[in-house]
Amino acid sequence: MIVISDVDEMRARSLGLRHSSGDLALVPTMGALHDGHMSLVRIARQLAPTVVVSVFVNPSQFGPREDYGRYPRNLAADIERLEEAGGVDIVFAPGVENMYPGGVDDHVVRVVPGSLTDHLCGPFRPGHFEGVATVVTKLFNACMPTVAVFGRKDAQQFVIVRRLSRELNFGIDIVGGPTIREPDGLALSSRNAYLNGEERRQATVLHEAIEAARERVSGGELESEAVVDSMIARVSKSPLAELQYAEIVDSGTLQPVRRLKPGGEVIAAVAASFGETRLIDNVFVRVPGLDPLGQEAKGSR
Ligand code: AMP
Repeated sequence: MIVISDVDEMRARSLGLRHSSGDLALVPTMGALHDGHMSLVRIARQLAPTVVVSVFVNPSQFGPREDYGRYPRNLAADIERLEEAGGVDIVFAPGVENMYPGGVDDHVVRVVPGSLTDHLCGPFRPGHFEGVATVVTKLFNACMPTVAVFGRKDAQQFVIVRRLSRELNFGIDIVGGPTIREPDGLALSSRNAYLNGEERRQATVLHEAIEAARERVSGGELESEAVVDSMIARVSKSPLAELQYAEIVDSGTLQPVRRLKPGGEVIAAVAASFGETRLIDNVFVRVPGLDPLGQEAKGSR
């Protein structure tokens, strides 16, 4: 396993590896690696002979009052963990100066995901998904993957990247890995480290909320308002949770759906703050019944 920080060197290596070995899988991360990230690495290994993991805390996706400064960083520990896990060929760990020569503000061209940011986290994190789409574009051009693995935990990001790859003709397969959770259901996140004991205990309401939504939808409820109400009821069980949103959106357009379409796929998503820490969770759910082509819907992911 080698560590590369320079964009041009990364691209040259990737092109060489693609020439000699074929497919190359990229797993983009911001480091502070946990079992959720490692599950994506395992998926990547199944998909391509060469695996690149990028570690880059991207300043352009953090708002001015967000946690860019205190986001956990420990590149040495991340490298050790990837080395121990095995099967990773390259860690691409550029500095901000490698990715944004001249500074972030000097970078005027940005990738705008349009209406995909109208809902869910979009309104609460202005500019965030532009920053994500821009840095993912830069990572794609630096690492030249044929396939990239993202977590469905960040559902809106996953859907945006899938559309980005398709609409900007990258031709990169975007694969979504399942959300890895603590035994009590809390989705693993680098930000869980910010929670104090009581916040951590109550944070499980997010998982309870999306599970409640999944049960309602799988049980045949077609009115999204009823499903949203069941999510809100779960989150309100936690006195510390400050709910930002509970929404049911179409998994392709990320627009809210009022009446669920049998055979369609929706995302049930919640976001809430526990003290200073903002957490999100979601589940992709197939609406039971026949779709317009007469195919039976299958389960949730
Ligand atoms: P991050 O380092 O938070 O930017 O995450 C890097 C990648 O790991 C993203 O594609 C995330 O969606 C994914 N990820 C984060 N947490 C989890 C989790 N609990 N399970 C699966 N994937 C995750």
